[in-house]
Amino acid sequence: MRSTHAVTLASSAFTTAEPVATARARGASGPRTVLSCEALRKTYRMGEVDVRALDGVDLFLRSGELLVLLGVSGSGKSTLLNILGGLDVPTSGRVFFGQTELTLADEEELTQYRRRHVGFVFQFYNLIPSLTARENVELVTDLVDDPLEADDALALVGLGDRLDHFPAQLSGGEQQRVAIARAIAKRPGVLLCDEPTGALDFRTGILVLDVIERVNRELGATTVLITHNAPIAEMADRVVTLADGRVQSEHVVAARARPSDLRW
Ligand code: ADP
Ligand code: MG
Repeated sequence: MRSTHAVTLASSAFTTAEPVATARARGASGPRTVLSCEALRKTYRMGEVDVRALDGVDLFLRSGELLVLLGVSGSGKSTLLNILGGLDVPTSGRVFFGQTELTLADEEELTQYRRRHVGFVFQFYNLIPSLTARENVELVTDLVDDPLEADDALALVGLGDRLDHFPAQLSGGEQQRVAIARAIAKRPGVLLCDEPTGALDFRTGILVLDVIERVNRELGATTVLITHNAPIAEMADRVVTLADGRVQSEHVVAARARPSDLRW
């Protein structure tokens, strides 16, 4: 069963009217839009030159969908994900979480957004070496109101028998699954994964993708999965391809593939 997530920040006094892209995406009766952005631009100043990482991106995420964000290295994927997750702010454009405009949020409100609503999974697992798998997950469950039990989150990623292992006693794929358990233990509305299989061999990568697919299906977390690996896109509900900081193409996948059926 899919859980529902309140689309409000802790102290959201800065709600605005529904953004145009959200209303357009929602249609009359379609699924709710969880996250959206309009005309997003991000420019990095590097000495004398401006690097345009994002150059006018419009995107929306529907409740519960698994969206693969595809693109070659340098196309702007991580920049987009970091802005959607409240880790970074755009140079211009607007970002909405439900009807709350994140681009109007102050630092404290963005922190609340990240803490309560967003689970991050990165290429490198960022586990604390001196804590067990369970303790790494408990760091997060201590921060939010209605978390999954750490043991349950670890069972969900297939590590119910590794609770007391330290990161050094786990394989790369197992460490990434601990990182996923940590990301989902807060029951995030949004799960953002940036090249989660980038450091893993093929077979291990498939296991990790399988866990992400299961989490998306069973917890209903709206999921963005970044990859430069085109075959992975077949496990998505929808695929958006970025090139040079712009959306190059977008397509809906008729029937999403099981990760175990993927080949690359
Ligand atoms: P991707 O994740 O698709 O590989 P990124 O979003 O990391 O792409 O980067 C997009 C572009 O922005 C690249 O040209 C990159 O060099 C540049 N860029 C990203 N982050 C920074 C930064 N913090 N400072 C300067 N340039 C950056
Ligand atoms: Mg990247």
